[in-house]
Amino acid sequence: MNPPKHLTATITKIEAVSEEVKRFVLDLSEPITFVPGQFVNLRFPGDTRYHAFSIASSPKIQDSIELVIKKEHEFTTKLFEQSEGVELECMGPMGNFMHDLDGDIVMIAGGVGITPFLGVLRWARDFEKKDQHFWLFLSNRTRDRIIGEEELRELDKMENLHVVFSVTREQPEGWDGELGHFDKDVLLKHLNSFDDKTFFTCGPGRMVEGICSMLVDAGVPEEKVKRESWG
Ligand SMILES: Cc1cc2nc3c(=O)[nH]c(=O)nc-3n(C[C@H](O)[C@H](O)[C@H](O)COP(=O)(O)OP(=O)(O)OC[C@H]3O[C@@H](n4cnc5c(N)ncnc54)[C@H](O)[C@@H]3O)c2cc1C
Repeated sequence: MNPPKHLTATITKIEAVSEEVKRFVLDLSEPITFVPGQFVNLRFPGDTRYHAFSIASSPKIQDSIELVIKKEHEFTTKLFEQSEGVELECMGPMGNFMHDLDGDIVMIAGGVGITPFLGVLRWARDFEKKDQHFWLFLSNRTRDRIIGEEELRELDKMENLHVVFSVTREQPEGWDGELGHFDKDVLLKHLNSFDDKTFFTCGPGRMVEGICSMLVDAGVPEEKVKRESWG
């Protein structure tokens, strides 16, 4: 892994994804080399505490990064009020959540927990990882909260990339995805078997713990079940 750099990150694009989620593009003062699943730490100049955000963009792009951020408390609320041109302190890349991306990969995310996996799918597309299969199981409360549904449906058209959506709080008209929380039966319906796959899960703590326990109870070896929980 490359050691983290201390950088200036300039906001160059802000786009509302939903009421509580925004997509930010940040230009970096120096290019970075990273692997999918890594994150950066951000803070406003003069602040003491950093905040972690997964890099959602493809590692092919090294001089800017895309982050998808959910508004929570003080820091993210202030970030949501900023405009293009604002400079932030950025430290990264950090983390080794997905350092082992060999073989077939299954990613299970809730809400904004998609961010590291968006980076993986874009990496698999850009670097033509055609000898591996990648599944993304993405659960959201409602369809309008899905981050980048159009792009995900395009990625799903590739032979080795598979995206399975689920919504848990509504039944949208004409919906072709799943309904409700992902469980063993739904995962097996799409995967056929849990054998010879590495599982990654990211999102709210309760969801992540529930999925990991289910996989281990179903016989997936502990070392094949990786998690990133944000609280
Ligand atoms: C490795 C990693 C990757 C991540 N990637 C992403 C990502 O890609 N996208 C994303 O959206 N998030 C991501 N997160 C989560 C993100 O770091 C936090 O959501 C963010 O830092 C919290 O910002 P804040 O505005 O709540 O910060 P602060 O305002 O500093 O709040 C920090 C904490 O203080 C508490 N707090 C502060 N104010 C209140 C209040 N009024 N009421 C109750 N509690 C309060 C809360 O516990 C809060 O989480 C990631 C986290 C990790 C560890």
